[in-house]
Amino acid sequence: MQRNPRGATRRADSTELPINGQRLAWGGATLLVLVLLLRLFTNGSDGEDGSKQSTLADPLLTATTQIAWDAVTEGQIQSIETTPLTWNDVTVRSGDNLSLIFNRAGFSDRDVFDVTSGVQGQALRRIFPGQLIGFAADEAAELIAVRHIESPLKQTVYSKNEGQFVSEVIVRETETRERSVAITIDSSLFLAGDQAGLSAAIIMELAAILGGVIDFALDPRRGDDIVILFEENYLDGEKFSDGNILAASFNNNGRLVEAYRYTDSLGDTGYFDADGVSMRKAFLKAPLDFTRVSSSFNPNRLHPIYKTKRPHRGTDYAAPRGTPVYAAGDGRVIDAGYTRPNGNYVFIQHGEGFKTHYLHLNKKRVKRGDRVKQGQVIGTVGSTGAATGPHLHYEFLVNGVHRNPRTVHKILPKAKSLPDSEIPRFKDAIKAPVQRLARTKASDAMTGAD
Ligand SMILES: [Zn+2]
Repeated sequence: MQRNPRGATRRADSTELPINGQRLAWGGATLLVLVLLLRLFTNGSDGEDGSKQSTLADPLLTATTQIAWDAVTEGQIQSIETTPLTWNDVTVRSGDNLSLIFNRAGFSDRDVFDVTSGVQGQALRRIFPGQLIGFAADEAAELIAVRHIESPLKQTVYSKNEGQFVSEVIVRETETRERSVAITIDSSLFLAGDQAGLSAAIIMELAAILGGVIDFALDPRRGDDIVILFEENYLDGEKFSDGNILAASFNNNGRLVEAYRYTDSLGDTGYFDADGVSMRKAFLKAPLDFTRVSSSFNPNRLHPIYKTKRPHRGTDYAAPRGTPVYAAGDGRVIDAGYTRPNGNYVFIQHGEGFKTHYLHLNKKRVKRGDRVKQGQVIGTVGSTGAATGPHLHYEFLVNGVHRNPRTVHKILPKAKSLPDSEIPRFKDAIKAPVQRLARTKASDAMTGAD
């Protein structure tokens, strides 16, 4: 493949027709995330009286969304009302409660009672800043409907029917489209991904999928090619959120790493290489937030400690103080303390034969005896002890002997494979993604040749 003479990152980009518009499960997950986010922003307040709520900017719900909801609500409500309703939407502010909101819209506490007194109406009390409460009245200015727009995907309409307010939940679904992108790493994975229009979340997800196979802090090389096939969720013709990564191939310095998302016949989803071997490995290759590792740093060549006579028995990752350090694998903290050479350190035992050491930490986040999960933050990068600058010194020991963390993976136990019985179904499932990756790569090569 030829390089672009200007050294810029090339991309091939295509969007196919929607493959699956029904994503209820996904929608639920998104709502959960939204709710969690909102809870985060509201300091855990349940939003009922709003007294504890802190500020949350309004743009959660955009004008476009509101217009979209108007169209939806109209269609739904016409079964009850013969004339379309005119909504007056009020944004829930920090510190709001229903009484304040109803009053702002020109309605009384009596109206609050009427709408919320029924069993269904109780749900209206769970409001969060940034959401919209809409009001519709008849010619006599009597309240006939209230709508609670919780998110771009969910609203509840409370409408008066024979003197009583009854509620109806209206859920919108995003439409999922597949997109494939080819990128060539010029300086960093993040920059390349960004230039190709990939969100930070997708790049992080890619790194997480391949994190047992590729050290994203040290492995990527200029000229490496990545092709990624992923889903994007659309609402009213506009991108609403990222979906799943379906497949990815990474040509890392001549080594091809591939991953395919697969849901087996029992319903379990994971990522596997083309032979059905799980991408989830016992150890992460880079036990820290790779996005903050300085890309120009090559510890084997430049790091001053390496130049001393003492053999260097680990890998150094130069990163800003405070960068999260992760447990490389599941295990138990067998030691966590401070010594002059190590600074703040954490030692983790993984199963019988493996240990990992993390030195020069700024802060330790675990103590001796703690159980840790792969990817759990155990501390932060620092320069405590005999360190010339902030970096993580990482060691890998097999049966008490230091091994090079960069190459030790070759002797580790094999990752889980799909059972033989699952392989034909798996091969069938990845046929289309395999072709799609190849097509994207080919068109990228053509684009870059001129
Ligand atoms: Zn070191």
